[in-house]
Amino acid sequence: MPSTRKVRVYRFIEKTALAVFVVWSGGLAVLFALDRIAGHELLAGIGVDIFILLLILVIQQTIDSWLVMSFSQSDLTQKDVFESLYERSPVGYLTLDTKGRVVNVNPSAVNLLQGSMDSFAGVNFYNFIKDEGEVDLEVLERKVEAGLTVNDMEVPMETIAGNYIWVMVSVSPYRNSGERLVSLIDITEKKNIDTAKSEFVALATHQLRTPIAAIRWNVELLERSLKTIKTESQTRYLAKIERNVLRMINLINDFLSVSKLEMGTYAAEAVSLDLSEFFESVVDEFVEKINEKQIALDRHEVPAHAVINTDSRLIHIIVSNLMSNAVKYSKTNGQLTFSYQLSGSSLQIVVADDGIGIPEGELDKLFTKFYRASNAQSHQTEGTGLGLYIVKQSVEQLGGGITVQSGEDKGARFVVTLPVSVVSA
Ligand code: ATP
Ligand code: MG
Repeated sequence: MPSTRKVRVYRFIEKTALAVFVVWSGGLAVLFALDRIAGHELLAGIGVDIFILLLILVIQQTIDSWLVMSFSQSDLTQKDVFESLYERSPVGYLTLDTKGRVVNVNPSAVNLLQGSMDSFAGVNFYNFIKDEGEVDLEVLERKVEAGLTVNDMEVPMETIAGNYIWVMVSVSPYRNSGERLVSLIDITEKKNIDTAKSEFVALATHQLRTPIAAIRWNVELLERSLKTIKTESQTRYLAKIERNVLRMINLINDFLSVSKLEMGTYAAEAVSLDLSEFFESVVDEFVEKINEKQIALDRHEVPAHAVINTDSRLIHIIVSNLMSNAVKYSKTNGQLTFSYQLSGSSLQIVVADDGIGIPEGELDKLFTKFYRASNAQSHQTEGTGLGLYIVKQSVEQLGGGITVQSGEDKGARFVVTLPVSVVSA
């Protein structure tokens, strides 16, 4: 491998040759245009040009082959390559000991956390995390200590300069068992955009409520004033308008709740709820579709008429979305099971169908925003891929969990478990 100096000399010759080539060609063209050189002199000039070009090519080839050599018979060890990446990476990296104390830091991390190299000595990494219920710090600490991998955790942090930022944190064991490598990616802007989007949805849906309420009110007035004289088809049209206005009101309220959940401003409102009555009304929303597809509905409610204290809007979002999916992805003559079981203060709701199912490899992405499984897309059923995302947000807001069992053409079974306060069982 030639020395760096030799490479630089060759690069210099290459650049000089290029400059000579440009000046020489330009001069030749001007002289020829002014008729100051004869044909054979022009040919000689072009010959010189070709020579310079060849020279440049040879120099470039030589330098390239040196570079290839330098990588293959590397005198750079893997460690050197890694350290050079660590130093120059646009991603922030920190090396921690098992207790989270900073051992090493790269310039990007220093930049991101707005400090200087010295300001990290002996500092505990967890001190940067602003714990506002967003992160389970204890779980993170335990995972880091045990040498487990943490992937893409979105964490709010306070920089050394006192600014509030959002960072995507990943942690993996590093070099020896006593060190952990932490990567930090700044996602503050993305989070700000997400918040702006949620605020926009909240604002837009909020403003939509007034005109829709006016439509509903006027449809009711029209219905009353036409009470005796309306024809059969007018009655049908009015009923259709009313049903769809109600659907729209529900949708708007759901969107509003979701944007509030995302912004962390959702205020839960517990009311007492007779489970059987409540679920009856939710199932009722889908009765037309169920009849149309001739789906057999199987309901098990244990115990019947249990009353609990909970946020009815969130439960409505959860059950109506699961039911809507079960009906939508069922085949004609399919089977749909809806059941709940209240044991102690734990409520388990099951919505299962024997429809098109979800390919097993896609189950882990099911609850992400806008995700639609490949088979659902090819069946061309309508959908935005927001339903299950909204369900998950609502389940988490209630402190519960949701699981799914499915496979392509094997139906789907969703189980929601919620902690509830029981009024009477
Ligand atoms: P929408 O936002 O209108 O509800 P969607 O139904 O497509 O649209 P989700 O409810 O979030 O969206 O569901 C996401 C995806 O999960 C669906 O597109 C479908 O692929 C799959 N899925 C959900 N429930 C079922 C089910 N019961 N059977 C089969 N696939 C399902
Ligand atoms: Mg859906």
